[in-house]
Amino acid sequence: SGGSKTKAKAPSFLTFEQIGGQDRAKKELMEALDFIVKHEQIAKLGIRPLKGMLLTGPPGTGKTLMAKAAAHYTNSVFLAASGSEFVEMYVGVGASRIRDLFREARQKAAKENKDSAIIFIDEIDVIGGKRDGGQHREYDQTLNQLLTEMDGIHTAETPRILLMAATNRKEMLDSALLRPGRFDRHIEVDLPDKKGRLAILNIHAKNKPLADDVNLELIAEQTFSFSGAHLESVLNEAAIYAMRDESETISQKHLTLAIDKVMMGEKTDRETNN
Ligand code: ATP
Repeated sequence: SGGSKTKAKAPSFLTFEQIGGQDRAKKELMEALDFIVKHEQIAKLGIRPLKGMLLTGPPGTGKTLMAKAAAHYTNSVFLAASGSEFVEMYVGVGASRIRDLFREARQKAAKENKDSAIIFIDEIDVIGGKRDGGQHREYDQTLNQLLTEMDGIHTAETPRILLMAATNRKEMLDSALLRPGRFDRHIEVDLPDKKGRLAILNIHAKNKPLADDVNLELIAEQTFSFSGAHLESVLNEAAIYAMRDESETISQKHLTLAIDKVMMGEKTDRETNN
């Protein structure tokens, strides 16, 4: 929020329309979110409130975008953290950070006069990995605190709190996290298919000057196994190629070069990681 002196500033909220592809995931998510929106009916029917939702899938597929859009859709305040932020050398620090996060969510909702808060924790596997009998005591305390906070969420309470977490290693998660009343709803956010890739390309091409020869459908065809983050990169790299060519528009050639560049980058990443 704030003044809009700079023109064409992106809005601070994110809607589901700005997420390309992922039709099934979006539909499932919106249905689940109606639990928050229709909370009075939910309470009357005695349905257990939805406390936790797990988004699973490879990196860069839009899990964070989904959580942000969920906050906008439900008119909730949004707080984000990453699992790695809770990993500390000193025992108890991670746990107290979890406590702070929930406190902050309640405070922020009160301040902004909102009935609900969505807390998003990326890389939940870092703190929610399988407990193995005392080897990672510090992680255990953090995880236990998270479970305690989740168990303390009640429907009658304002703000209603929904925890959304993301991981690309679901099989690593401790079973305590997956129990009913915790992260019992899972939404898969997979790599986009061709139609999804085209939708994502169109979204990120919106503010870019494309030449007449550009065929995004062809680009979507040539980017099998690319994530949304990769596709955003392709458009960005293509714009850089256009600049190098001193061209005012991005042509199909720039896009083709950019595909190679992004693919190469991915390879070098993998080589340095392994
Ligand atoms: P990670 O697991 O690495 O945190 P993520 O699934 O949370 O990844 P996001 O942070 O949501 O991925 O996406 C990264 C960026 O990639 C976004 O900011 C956006 O530019 C682009 N992106 C990814 N998926 C999509 C999509 N479905 N539609 C539009 N843009 C996308």
